[in-house]
Amino acid sequence: MNSKFVLVGSGLAGGLLAAYLGRRGYDVDLYERRADPREGNIVGGRSINLAISTRGIHALERIGIADEALQHAIPMRGRMIHDKSGVLHFTPYDVDPQKCINSIGRAALNTTVIEAAQRYPNVRVHFNHKCVDVDLDTPTVQLETEHGQLAVRSDAVIGVDGAFSAVRKSMQQKIGNFQYDESYLPHGYKELTIPPGPDGSWCMEKNALHIWPRKSFMMIALPNPDGSFTCTLFWEFEGARSFATTKTDEDVRQFFEEEFPDAVPLMPTLLEDFRHNPTGSLVTIRCAPWFYGDKVCLLGDAAHAVVPFYGQGMNAAFEDCVVLDECLEKFPDNRARAFGEYFSRRKENTDALAALAVGNFIEMRDKTASKTFRVKKKLDHVLEAALPGIYLPLYTIVTFTRMPYAVAARRARVQDLLVYVSLIVIVAVLVGTTVWFVAR
Ligand SMILES: Cc1cc2nc3c(=O)[nH]c(=O)nc-3n(C[C@H](O)[C@H](O)[C@H](O)COP(=O)(O)OP(=O)(O)OC[C@H]3O[C@@H](n4cnc5c(N)ncnc54)[C@H](O)[C@@H]3O)c2cc1C
Repeated sequence: MNSKFVLVGSGLAGGLLAAYLGRRGYDVDLYERRADPREGNIVGGRSINLAISTRGIHALERIGIADEALQHAIPMRGRMIHDKSGVLHFTPYDVDPQKCINSIGRAALNTTVIEAAQRYPNVRVHFNHKCVDVDLDTPTVQLETEHGQLAVRSDAVIGVDGAFSAVRKSMQQKIGNFQYDESYLPHGYKELTIPPGPDGSWCMEKNALHIWPRKSFMMIALPNPDGSFTCTLFWEFEGARSFATTKTDEDVRQFFEEEFPDAVPLMPTLLEDFRHNPTGSLVTIRCAPWFYGDKVCLLGDAAHAVVPFYGQGMNAAFEDCVVLDECLEKFPDNRARAFGEYFSRRKENTDALAALAVGNFIEMRDKTASKTFRVKKKLDHVLEAALPGIYLPLYTIVTFTRMPYAVAARRARVQDLLVYVSLIVIVAVLVGTTVWFVAR
């Protein structure tokens, strides 16, 4: 008889994982606390759109839904930097103009992965079921529904229930040496809108990720298929100028006119959006282990939430699905070994991603504004073109390859060192040669 899996959470990774497990022939029940996203419910609390790149696309391709998912995605070929005077600078993501990241709607992608899972008759999806506890040993999930409580027993439970995972909480309470660390940035985020132009067109360059870098904070905007842009303001919660001190419409208007003057005329609903949209927090979560024998396992944000500045949280969660699927294939009769191998293949890499994501916040909000950044990016592209396959900028490795994140981070450190040493040697030789000529 096929093993029975219970998955908790049908967000982005939950739906995709259910499809992978369904294809492998397992009996899968997926429980989601929210209502069916196809009934028009907002996938509340998270970004409206996301950037999907090579790792995420590969995971969709492996289950045959990449074209379906990407049909409405908008390619973004580089960063469009808006300085305070409204001057724009475009920096391509890669020397190869075909390499781009893609803006994709969260709700549409969520629906695509859920529908992919439901094509397998052995997968069932249950909405409006909230997990409140997991008995790890049996393993049994306690669910709350509008009709009361329900206990569901299975062979294995997978927690795909996001950064504030109830499954992980049960592991924390019941596994003696469970390691857990959560750290919040001092910044929060708020989503705002640039609506489509009168003819449904985009009011700014469509094929770019727009950034208004302002040193300690920033705003970004990603395009949507309907001609709108979703802007996200990343700003300190506290401080002299912060979410805390910006209370009235006048405060908001003044702040935006000072900092993002070219965006204000494009944001007719700015004040309403600012007032009504929630301010989200930015958390990094690290924990270990991600599994309990052959009974319980964590995947996606439940195992490793990262801040969004590398655009990799979902991509990494999708990559988890591929790796777990490979491990289940390798150890079809030993789920504990499959879970163990999945954990050991992913942990070091998602820890590396967590560090890269925090580092990229500083790059986006501060360094992208500088000429040095643009020169460094040009140098990166020159070296990449001159040394194909040998020199790869870190952003390129993370975004456009499937090299493990930890290997990417190590490789970039070595490359940077070599470039700096080479530059010092070149400068020393030039200075030495000049001095020699002058002295002759
Ligand atoms: C502002 C922002 C921008 C981002 N941009 C990007 C980006 O550009 N690119 C990228 O790759 N990543 C991005 N991310 C990260 C990405 O959103 C997450 O990594 C991704 O959603 C993780 O998927 P998941 O399925 O693990 O978790 P989630 O998508 O959070 O899904 C978890 C699901 O579990 C359900 N659930 C929770 N608790 C329970 C419970 N007790 N019982 C039942 N169900 C439950 C939830 O309702 C939800 O449906 C961004 C994140 C933020 C906050």
